[in-house]
Amino acid sequence: LKSDNEGQNSVEKEIEKALRPLSFEDFTGQQKVVDNIKIFVQAAKQRSEPLDHVLLHGPPGLGKTTLSSIIANELQTSIKITSGPVLDKPSDLAGLLTNLEPHDVLFIDEIHRLNPIVEEYLYSAMEDFRIDIMLDSGPNARSVQIGLNPFTLIGATTRAGLLTSPLRARFGINARLEYYDSTLLTKIVNRSSAILNTPIESDAAFEIARRSRGTPRISNNLLRRTRDFAQIKGNGTITKAIAQMALKALDVDENGLDDMDNRILLTIIEKFKGGPVGLTTIATAVGEESETIEEVYEPFLIQEGYIKRTSRGREATELAYKHLKVVPPLSKRG
Ligand code: ATP
Repeated sequence: LKSDNEGQNSVEKEIEKALRPLSFEDFTGQQKVVDNIKIFVQAAKQRSEPLDHVLLHGPPGLGKTTLSSIIANELQTSIKITSGPVLDKPSDLAGLLTNLEPHDVLFIDEIHRLNPIVEEYLYSAMEDFRIDIMLDSGPNARSVQIGLNPFTLIGATTRAGLLTSPLRARFGINARLEYYDSTLLTKIVNRSSAILNTPIESDAAFEIARRSRGTPRISNNLLRRTRDFAQIKGNGTITKAIAQMALKALDVDENGLDDMDNRILLTIIEKFKGGPVGLTTIATAVGEESETIEEVYEPFLIQEGYIKRTSRGREATELAYKHLKVVPPLSKRG
């Protein structure tokens, strides 16, 4: 069974890779960010300089990793991918940095979770392209300076607010990725189904898109699962009826909220009288980590107007009551 799963995983990974845009032209949406970055990339290339360090922030699945690989492609350099929690010791970072070729991209995902000691080393690396390594300890301790090839650091974070200010100050380019609207996601769904050789009707592509929480990664996942339904329950073509059947089976509701979104809203309304209620209390009640709620679920629920963040905690809005078909108490009616 294990090897079956592994086989499945590698197929899924291959599909994921095939769906990943490789150039700015393939990358849909985030127009302003992309237009600016294109200029910065072109200018750096013309001057034969490395691109300034880039900080990308925004909710998961919006294309931070994808965009970083595209930047490296367009710079005609390589990208090394790592993440904050993986860089445990300064030597892990030093190993990566000393292996970079001139103008390469080092991508650090979840950069807000860097160990503070490792982060300190990053400062001089980013600023002066050098690192000071301590050799030995105790009375024999001495530091050696190692020069690095000029490189571009791209840091990605779901929580820009958690970055320390010295780190944030070292990024010359700072861009926020936003949720995608249904029109853009429809384009992404159509592009992905063409790559997967799966015919899809246009109203079906829109149906998947509008129920994807504004997130391309979710669009692609829903598309792949809907494709399975089309193959088994239909004739291979994704029609609107097939899409609706699949989305229902996957617990994605009419407004595109998933099971956890609905549990969060229901908890605030039924257990805490609509709020305000603290994040950790909600997290305990729904059995999910507070961080996940704060980084993944809440931003979308706030943007769509289902919850409000107040100084006393999270509150369900009238829209949340309407969505769950619960009559709001008098105090909550606008
Ligand atoms: P995380 O921070 O969770 O790693 P991310 O923001 O880095 O997420 P990616 O891994 O880059 O997200 O993107 C998720 C998937 O969505 C990718 O496999 C890619 O195929 C697809 N995708 C993302 N953005 C776009 C886009 N603008 N156009 C087309 N496909 C996209």
